[in-house]
Amino acid sequence: MTVSAALQDRLAALQPPGLMIIDGRKIAALSGETFANISPRDGKPINAVAAGDKADVDLAVAAARAAFEDGRWRDRTPAEKKKTLLRLAELMEAHREELALLEALDVGKPLSDARNVDIPLAIQTTRWYAEALDKIYGEVGPSGPGRLSYAVHEPLGVIGAIVPWNFPLHMAMWKAAPALAMGNSVVLKPAEQSPLTALRVAELALEAGLPPGVLNVVTGFGETAGQALARHMDVDMITFTGSGSVGRRLMVYAGESNLKRVSLELGGKSPQIVFADCPDLDAAAEAAAWGVFFNQGEVCTAASRLLVQEAIREPFLEKVLAVARGIQVGDPLDEATRFGAMVSSEQMRTTLGYIERARASGLEPVLGGRQVLQATGGFYVEPTIFDRLSPDAALAREEVFGPVLGVLSFQTSDEALRIANDTVYGLAAGVWTSNIDLAMSAARRLRAGLVWINGWDACDITMPFGGFKQSGFGRDRSLHALHKYADLKSITLSHRPPHV
Ligand code: NAP
Ligand code: MG
Repeated sequence: MTVSAALQDRLAALQPPGLMIIDGRKIAALSGETFANISPRDGKPINAVAAGDKADVDLAVAAARAAFEDGRWRDRTPAEKKKTLLRLAELMEAHREELALLEALDVGKPLSDARNVDIPLAIQTTRWYAEALDKIYGEVGPSGPGRLSYAVHEPLGVIGAIVPWNFPLHMAMWKAAPALAMGNSVVLKPAEQSPLTALRVAELALEAGLPPGVLNVVTGFGETAGQALARHMDVDMITFTGSGSVGRRLMVYAGESNLKRVSLELGGKSPQIVFADCPDLDAAAEAAAWGVFFNQGEVCTAASRLLVQEAIREPFLEKVLAVARGIQVGDPLDEATRFGAMVSSEQMRTTLGYIERARASGLEPVLGGRQVLQATGGFYVEPTIFDRLSPDAALAREEVFGPVLGVLSFQTSDEALRIANDTVYGLAAGVWTSNIDLAMSAARRLRAGLVWINGWDACDITMPFGGFKQSGFGRDRSLHALHKYADLKSITLSHRPPHV
């Protein structure tokens, strides 16, 4: 593996954090247990990380509750809160190279993506909610003489944030930044595969002046720490990004405990529809390939279904193949790499399993389909494309969460929309056409929370992000995410009417 000398030095100086942050202190798990945090780059351990469980979650929730009740954060003025969160964003900026290295090492994504996408977007998110928090207005009701009625946004209290490993810090800040901006306390549980940047940023938050207990990070496993958080009687909300199976369990835990609010951002099987009158086939081909191969396919909005109008199927597929053939699988820490390792051997095996089952059903990939770079000890799978998928093939219905694209074709727009909507998911969808009427009507008919026309994945903090159907409910990003972490309270003051 080829890593520059300068990077070797930075790697050697890196101190990956392994202790939890609870009540402003760095602590080991009460049990003393740790787990080995593996780098998918080479399959080797990076460090030992505290394996927090129920006892540690209890401690973190108690700290978060105490911080909320005494108002050490909630009762700061909006200007003070804004200053603290902006200071956090500045510290993240100052440590962006360290954070990018930690992220790339931890989950196997290309360092260039961590540098140019994950960390800048996590910083932008923090800044955006810092800037937004003093622009939240309540309402005055038209209650008539003798009454002043008004509605205010009140923080919910203690927010449990459970996040995945695909964009670890970015997803953590999608939850933590608006929750903190609203005045809540947070207990964050990163995925066991990706604890490092959450721990580091919680340290930076303390340095920025966020009071102890306001942002706590419990590392550990989903079944233990995650479940304890989601079942906790003193947690007011669970905000989650991850799989549908865990999302279902979180709703059960909420129902069996204190009816805490639950917000779920789950996966998808997102279609990208390319009509014969597509205005730019080269741009569409880039988007078709990178829409699914970016981040090794480990993206909830991955465009894993490509629907192409039959008239242009062959020439368009050639263009997509040309882009995909140019994607080299490489060492995440090689600065030229644009496609790195999958997060874990488990995720790699799941992906290869889908490919094998497709082969067993008589399908042969037109590109890729194999594990590569085995000698590194890391978890690498080639970009893989299956053509002529039937809409009922497993690869057209199930989320792989790996670099596998399925190509389907259609004749009419009605057929395209029927196939596109024929899924239990509804996260994202794309349409490529020069026909404005078709584009606008398709955008409304597609059952998805995000629709992109003549483009793919404009990651825009100003717009709500989330799914229809089994892709979940509740929205990240935008002002809607702020309101998600608040309840509305109606206050009515009765007074003597005028002219008495
Ligand atoms: P996952 O199991 O849903 O994990 C997401 C988070 O939930 C992690 O922090 C995980 O902790 C935690 N968790 C697991 N079991 C839990 C439980 N019983 N109670 C509370 N929390 C629990 O996702 P995954 O295993 O990382 O990946 C599996 C599939 O999820 C992927 O193949 C993909 O389909 C989907 N996924 C979707 C997204 C997305 O952005 N929509 C992101 C990642 C994964 P631990 O990791 O520590 O167990
Ligand atoms: Mg890891």
